[in-house]
Amino acid sequence: MKDTFKHQGLRQQLVNTLKNKGITDVNVLKTIGNIPRHLFMDSSFLDHAYQDKAFPIAADQTISQPYTVAFQTELLQLNRDAKILEIGTGSGYQTAVLCELGVKVFSIERQLELFKKTSKFLPKLGYRPKKLIFGDGYKGMPEEAPFDGIIVTAGAPFVPTPLLSQLNIGGRLVIPVGDQVQTMTLFVRKGPKEFEKHEFGEFRFVPLLEDKN
Ligand code: SAH
Repeated sequence: MKDTFKHQGLRQQLVNTLKNKGITDVNVLKTIGNIPRHLFMDSSFLDHAYQDKAFPIAADQTISQPYTVAFQTELLQLNRDAKILEIGTGSGYQTAVLCELGVKVFSIERQLELFKKTSKFLPKLGYRPKKLIFGDGYKGMPEEAPFDGIIVTAGAPFVPTPLLSQLNIGGRLVIPVGDQVQTMTLFVRKGPKEFEKHEFGEFRFVPLLEDKN
């Protein structure tokens, strides 16, 4: 597993691309500049790792586009030591971004193959999420709630109620909502039953799958 000057150079170009597309959070940009995204991808895509594109990973899933990762992370408005739940661990790239930003990360993945692979892989790179589980993200992680932020990295046909109820007051849920195309949506919990909703642009994600049992 190597990170070379060439990769670092390509990452700086990617950071510039993200700035040009409107990402302003300096910590988020720095993090994307630090993390060797190529190591999270299959070797056949290595040459493309620093293009601002999503790529296939195992189990018919994708590693999110860097712009999407940056956009969603920026919306979380992280404070150091915040407690964050991620739905859809996938390759672990977004998980690594959160770890690098110094927050406590909890993450759920429903594909066993990806769960196993990523659970082994992240510590090898020095990333230590608090907890990775194999399970159904629609349910959230009630045993660890409440969270300061929840980030959903798959397209949700509707907003799962457990995720809203597992937010702290002041907590933020960042979730792409829709079937074929998703609207990036932010919910901020203002009170026990009070949520503020903000909508951003359109994105495309693999679907947040429901368990049929
Ligand atoms: N954050 C990941 C994105 C992976 S794509 C990355 O940057 O690589 C979305 C992921 O969500 C996939 O790994 C998919 O298996 C997972 N997923 C889909 N439905 C889910 C569910 N109900 N619960 C948990 N994970 C789910």
